[in-house]
Amino acid sequence: MISPEEPYELICPVCSGRFFDTYQITCQSGCGGLLKADYTASHLQIRDLPGLFRYSDWLPVKGYLPTRSAPVCFQSKHLAREIGLNNLWIVFAGYWPERNAFVSSGSFKEFEALPTFVRLEERAKGIILVASAGNTGRAFAQISAETGRPVIVVVPKAAQDRIWTSQPAENLLLITVDGDYTDAISLGNQLCTIPGVYPEGGAKNIARRDGMGTVMLEGTVTMEHLPDWYVQGVGSGTGGIAAYEASSRLVTDGRFGSVLPRLLLVQNAPFIPMVQAWHANRREIIPDEDMKDPSASIAQVYADVLTNRTPPYGISGGVYDSLIATDGIMTSATTNEAIQAGNLFQKLEGIDIDPAAAVCVAGLISSVKSGIIQPDQRVLLAITGGGYQRIRKDISLYTNIPSIMTDRANDKTEIITMVSEWVQSHV
Ligand SMILES: *Cc1c(COP(=O)(O)O)cnc(C)c1O
Ligand SMILES: [Zn+2]
Repeated sequence: MISPEEPYELICPVCSGRFFDTYQITCQSGCGGLLKADYTASHLQIRDLPGLFRYSDWLPVKGYLPTRSAPVCFQSKHLAREIGLNNLWIVFAGYWPERNAFVSSGSFKEFEALPTFVRLEERAKGIILVASAGNTGRAFAQISAETGRPVIVVVPKAAQDRIWTSQPAENLLLITVDGDYTDAISLGNQLCTIPGVYPEGGAKNIARRDGMGTVMLEGTVTMEHLPDWYVQGVGSGTGGIAAYEASSRLVTDGRFGSVLPRLLLVQNAPFIPMVQAWHANRREIIPDEDMKDPSASIAQVYADVLTNRTPPYGISGGVYDSLIATDGIMTSATTNEAIQAGNLFQKLEGIDIDPAAAVCVAGLISSVKSGIIQPDQRVLLAITGGGYQRIRKDISLYTNIPSIMTDRANDKTEIITMVSEWVQSHV
């Protein structure tokens, strides 16, 4: 260990280097794999801390934020019976007060946002920038609204309405781009060159992965055993990587079984680059084969949060490696199947779910039908977002107004100056 007081250090999967955490998102030797956190605690102790910070032993944080946000796990009766499973458990990440689920931005992206804010505060001084098409930006805006932490969110103009919060986000700098997600990312990258602005880092950020990993922790602790299967709808696949990493820690812990859960990761046809690459036994996504005419296929999906064009699939420690390590599989569900599965879930379990979670349920149903998943196997179904109807009913939502609106032709130096000034006054 670098210092006995450090609750964790970083390991590079490529060069095996070990590092003190300074909020870096890549190995200092330029390796390019996903850095992992290696925690001193090998036995998970549930802490008496708010929300998901009860899993702080395996989060890259020392402190915590006040929150009620956490995954909630329960055994399914009705959906399980309907689809022919005897041991189906649901981890719900969303808003459902009767089940004690209070994720007010509605998706598991909030589990990534919470430890990311704390990690940055503890490891570097600055402001997080998020470029997002929806759920991620809203989750970071929500935590900013609740805690007063500043954040910069860059979204395509068309996604502006998705950045609602349960209270005004006074320290949010919302920037809209007249373009698509790729344009938002490109502006975000430019803004991250401003001193004091830090990229949230996506899959490369251990706080995001280990925050999502709490879904596996909550499921396993509730079931008192690791599941045989972990089922999730994926766009980047970060949740799948996180589930694998969390389950490896649980295997090392020793109290929950010794077999890693198999990942069953589901994409929304016809935009299924990872499914294609996986079925072709490839570590690389080949755009001309796996994403033919991406705009047209993206236009046909139900869950646009699942349409990442550059997922961390082949990278060392990424989705491909996680599938190999867990004997995992990838599958797809069509928009029609997803809509039906979402309706079935709502009818049987009693809550509306995010389109991405509906894709996941559809993938589960077809995998049970095809016999890949056996009736007696222990299945952990990740409902990664839901309860939006209840949120709208229970909470008066604020639509955040962008402070900066830009189009592709706008002079970027002017925007950089405006953002720099805002950063100066908020660090
Ligand atoms: C982002 C998101 C996903 C996909 O997550 P990844 O693991 O990053 O692919 C699934 N469901 C919902 C609701 C999401 O917001
Ligand atoms: Zn390295």
